[in-house]
Amino acid sequence: MTADLESTAREAAKRLRNWRESGREADTRGVAYVGEGVLRCALCGTTLVVAQEDKGWYAASFSYSCADPGCGQGALPVAEVDRELEEFTRRRLKEPAVVAAWRATRLAKLDEQIADARLILPWCWDQRRRRQLSRRLAPSEWLFTPSTCMSGSRYHLYFFGAELTDLIVERARTVAEPQRGRSVGELAQAQREWAYLWLDLRRLKRRQVRRMLGRRALQEIDDDWEQRQTRLWDLLKETDWQYSGPARQPLDDRAMDQEWSQSPGAMARQRQSLLAYALGDNQLVLSATAAAGSRVRVVPAVSGGVFGAV
Ligand SMILES: [Zn+2]
Repeated sequence: MTADLESTAREAAKRLRNWRESGREADTRGVAYVGEGVLRCALCGTTLVVAQEDKGWYAASFSYSCADPGCGQGALPVAEVDRELEEFTRRRLKEPAVVAAWRATRLAKLDEQIADARLILPWCWDQRRRRQLSRRLAPSEWLFTPSTCMSGSRYHLYFFGAELTDLIVERARTVAEPQRGRSVGELAQAQREWAYLWLDLRRLKRRQVRRMLGRRALQEIDDDWEQRQTRLWDLLKETDWQYSGPARQPLDDRAMDQEWSQSPGAMARQRQSLLAYALGDNQLVLSATAAAGSRVRVVPAVSGGVFGAV
């Protein structure tokens, strides 16, 4: 093996780890409530913070309140405000211009992630290179953990294939125009078949299989594994995919599954990203007195300067 190829396997392994890491942003990191950092005080323009009114653990004890203690703006329960934010988001995310902006941004993000993965894919296509990559992914794991049928490198490669498939399927479902190419159903099926084997095997220890079923059974498992993963990697050589059902809409996002007021702490980051599409260039102000039944008001964003009368 040349030094050049060796360093490339190392790079591919590093790239694969980073790729999987970057796709797994925690939903709640940095923000616990959807209005946090987004809502501004209607009186003074300060960004609102979430405060706990009393010592209760329940959602009703949390409020949005002005960060300026001298402001005089009352605190407002998170659950009530989040209900208004959800209504606003639902209404706006049905508007064609907002849907188009959402779609363009989502597709750009998916294309970027898929393009990054394509740089790693050639290392998965033939068994010899796949093994080189595998050794890089889990060089010393066998020293510390019992060797299961799925340990180490298999684990990394399996999840890489599964996650990439999810992105390609999502992309095909997000595109609004008719597409050409193979049906993503085929890709999803290959992923499922590999997943079934994964579920069957992930807890089995190689030593036990060998002892109870014999060396031949272990070989059959390994062959089956190779066959199912090869099927998926081969399909992933395709670049054109199509989905025949209706295109995904922003309101299909999982962040809209639950009522926001019922689950104020859940999926805050993802909800906030939908709210951002709904807002566009505007910003939200919150006042203790309801105008036309709502406390949340949409105002054009002001760049710097004095926060005008609302
Ligand atoms: Zn204030």
